[in-house]
Amino acid sequence: MNRTVLTRPGIIMALLLSAMIGIIFFIKNGFSASSVPQVQMRPFPYPYQAMLSFASDIDGTTPEEFAQYHQFLNTKSHTPMGTGLGLDVGDSFWMYMDTNSSHPYYVDNQKHTSNAIMTYFTGTDRTKKKDAALINHYYRAGWIDSMHGYGDFSRVNRNEGLCTRDLAIAAWDHLNQDGIHPDIWINHGNEANRENFGAYSPFSFTAYQQGDNKYSPYYHTDLIRKNDVHFVWNSRGDAAFGEKNAIFPIRLRDGQNIWGFHRYAFDRTKHGVNWTWGPKALYMQLTPKRLDELVARHEYSIIAQHFGGGNGPYPFDNKNIQPLRMLAHYQDSGRILVARTSRLLHYNVAHNFLTYSVTTTQEGKTKIQLHSIKDPLFGSRPVTINDVRGITFYVADPHKVELFIGEHGLDPKDVQYNPPDQTGKRSISIKWFAPDTFDYTKTAPQAL
Ligand SMILES: [Zn+2]
Repeated sequence: MNRTVLTRPGIIMALLLSAMIGIIFFIKNGFSASSVPQVQMRPFPYPYQAMLSFASDIDGTTPEEFAQYHQFLNTKSHTPMGTGLGLDVGDSFWMYMDTNSSHPYYVDNQKHTSNAIMTYFTGTDRTKKKDAALINHYYRAGWIDSMHGYGDFSRVNRNEGLCTRDLAIAAWDHLNQDGIHPDIWINHGNEANRENFGAYSPFSFTAYQQGDNKYSPYYHTDLIRKNDVHFVWNSRGDAAFGEKNAIFPIRLRDGQNIWGFHRYAFDRTKHGVNWTWGPKALYMQLTPKRLDELVARHEYSIIAQHFGGGNGPYPFDNKNIQPLRMLAHYQDSGRILVARTSRLLHYNVAHNFLTYSVTTTQEGKTKIQLHSIKDPLFGSRPVTINDVRGITFYVADPHKVELFIGEHGLDPKDVQYNPPDQTGKRSISIKWFAPDTFDYTKTAPQAL
């Protein structure tokens, strides 16, 4: 064993040295405190101490089910499950439906099967739009921000890879025509979904992933990058509920980079892995212990779900409504900010890579100037207001601070002056997105 043993003179020397370092550190910080005001970024938007998002896959969801559960989750309307929660919950969508199954299963309580699921096209027929207008409407409403791959291509015969590049090209053509720009991709389904990407490894269950293989008929990640998709869930679920960072870099096989993100999807038990990503397991996902730990550790949580996956009359029963109400209470009491996945991920990027400078004006005010987001994967870009919503700086006196984006002072309506938080420090924020609890099912193009 290789071990450093300190002799007594050695210990004295070490103590002297650490004392000297301490003095130097004090002088350095003493000087900086007198010349540049102390400004520090707070981990999360004031007053919150953690951030949480649902990332729900659209499997088994009919338009009626989609409307039903978003009405409960996002609005404050009276619903059969009680008063809505008014949370910011996004969702995913499909362009195509091309699954088969040896035993057709019912996707709702009306005995509908997979062809009733909300998809942009009918099957893979690009001349027949199905729920395109509805998907467009909900994208604009902010209830959809992710694509669950291009569609459901899970097959009984896992060697049948049907989602080839021509389908990817057609999908992006139509999305661009409609102005639908999802920037999150979530892999779906079994090995027949060769278009999946982000976790290819020749000796694991992900060996089937071909979406980023330039030489494959399923290649399409050049289109993913060209269409500004920034985030991918690569089919690897997480057992951890919270993370210091929701994002991690992925280098694709075609040489491009993209952000991967963690999604809590299962619990480890002594019997093995228990996937908790269905609406009937919400009570297992959302426990007071987990939410308290998320707050105490100042972490991000993205929770995998399949809100429309059931086939009962209502997506949530009492056992699972209660934990959702509890989560809403964590937000209402200023502990956990619930945000759609795209907002959480972009906040994470902005928080990690925002560049700013701090100076003192002639009037003695502190000027914080936001310059750019130096995204190491997507390059540096100038800051826009929506990139930095929620960003909060600890400052001595928020009322003596001026916030700038580049050369422009922030509109006062976008600035928030905060009292001391649990650390005792005061802060100033760029306001988070205004709550939107409007019931978009009421204005949906196909009246329900
Ligand atoms: Zn899925």
